[in-house]
Amino acid sequence: MAYDPNNVFARILRGEIPCKKVYEDDHVLAFHDINPQAPIHVLVIPKGAYVSLEDFSAKAPAEERAAFLAAVGHVARTLGLVKSGYRILANHGPDSSQEVPHFHVHIFGGRRLGRMLERA
Ligand code: 5GP
Repeated sequence: MAYDPNNVFARILRGEIPCKKVYEDDHVLAFHDINPQAPIHVLVIPKGAYVSLEDFSAKAPAEERAAFLAAVGHVARTLGLVKSGYRILANHGPDSSQEVPHFHVHIFGGRRLGRMLERA
């Protein structure tokens, strides 16, 4: 799948759409989800143009991959979720119902998160 530079997260990165920023560095932006599924629901995205984890893990330079993983942990700590716990989730492709074609990790927390997957 080719990267669509007009996807909503690309537009957030360009400042065309506002977001409630939680964290930013040279490689990563994290912001609150517009439609939260838990009391805390934050999205962590790389600034590079990657469609999903498949694209990111295959193509991103080691520095970007390392920065991304470090940022996910940093954001979870900043949000105060280490003691209570949290869940991270990344969707890739149709079976996952990935909605936005720019790689992102969801961080959920702030309540008991229930079962890992919907029953088939
Ligand atoms: P996906 O299904 O692709 O893993 O998740 C996409 C997420 O992006 C959804 O949870 C959705 O609520 C969130 N989202 C979609 N559009 C926007 C937006 O304009 N701003 C923010 N902050 N989140 C968005």
